[in-house]
Amino acid sequence: MASWEDGVRRVVPYTPGEQPKDLHIVKLNTNENPYPPSPGVLAALSGVTEDSLRRYPDPAAAVLTKTLADAYHVSPDQVFVGVGSDDVLAMSFLTFFNSGKPILFPDITYSFYEVWADLFRIPYQKQKLNADFEIVRNDYLKENGGIIFPNPNAPTGVLMEKGAVRDILRANPGSVVIVDEAYIDFAPEGSSALSLLPEFENLLVVQTFSKSRSMAGMRIGFAIGSEKLIHYLNDCKYSFNSYTMNQAALAAGKAAAEDSGWYRETVRKVIATRERSKKELSALGFSFANSQTNFLFVRHEKAKARDLFQALRRAGIIVRYFDSPRIDDYLRITIGTDEQMDILFDFLKSNL
Ligand code: PMP
Repeated sequence: MASWEDGVRRVVPYTPGEQPKDLHIVKLNTNENPYPPSPGVLAALSGVTEDSLRRYPDPAAAVLTKTLADAYHVSPDQVFVGVGSDDVLAMSFLTFFNSGKPILFPDITYSFYEVWADLFRIPYQKQKLNADFEIVRNDYLKENGGIIFPNPNAPTGVLMEKGAVRDILRANPGSVVIVDEAYIDFAPEGSSALSLLPEFENLLVVQTFSKSRSMAGMRIGFAIGSEKLIHYLNDCKYSFNSYTMNQAALAAGKAAAEDSGWYRETVRKVIATRERSKKELSALGFSFANSQTNFLFVRHEKAKARDLFQALRRAGIIVRYFDSPRIDDYLRITIGTDEQMDILFDFLKSNL
């Protein structure tokens, strides 16, 4: 006898990081920025009017789109905004990865890629990182139905040189290549694939307001690509009206996009703390790949990651532990303020 459950789409869901209510917890588990967003953001939110809430938002998000286009020196027709870059990425999978050929993405990488591929029934082949946790350029030169990788990669933090990104694009004129730059603002200037856009119609660069702009709670992400790619993305998006950004996020996003100086300053502080943290953690016996992000992916010879994660948790410090093969020896530690990192280092000094 058939069951209604036969028709259910079943996936192994993404496991989100914990979001505890207690603000005293030293929260180093979901790569949020420890500094506040631009003061213009709160001002813009308090300026949201009753009328703007009563009405539906502009589905084209024309004002935010134009502000971002100006900030990144592209045409508004090259910008697509969404409810966090997760939304932009999911919509991009749905729009661009339909050839039936396997898409390629790294193993280890952002675990949502596999979830979306399963959800949308997109075949995929995972490409192993090398021993230094680098994405191997040559693994992305074979025939495929699309390519996606984060740059810098997550949760490893390792950056791929722009020359290698260009090689991958040159070898793949027949598929869409998505570079997920959630953490690019923490990498050396000039690392972004945005500068390759004039050369490649099939390149989509995805970024977010969640990390460098300190606005994870607002859910704003965006893609920049050729006018053709953005046109196709919009057609798909308009078929899912629920993906339209809300009025408050549109206002907040505009204010943040207009104040680049603010986020660059918080990024500078996070990078300084990251480099200091590398030294502290090395001295404590941790090893890690060379992160160019706002987190470190670390391993300790003597302490088991799971035990350390639990001991830290009991001490009110939350880091990220991935209970899955190949990465369960590691902890991912978000870079917090210097004070937060000192609490972590003090704990480690007396407990390792
Ligand atoms: N890409 C990568 C590589 C990430 O780590 C994250 C954050 N978890 C995202 C995309 C999504 O970020 P958001 O939806 O907050 O923009």
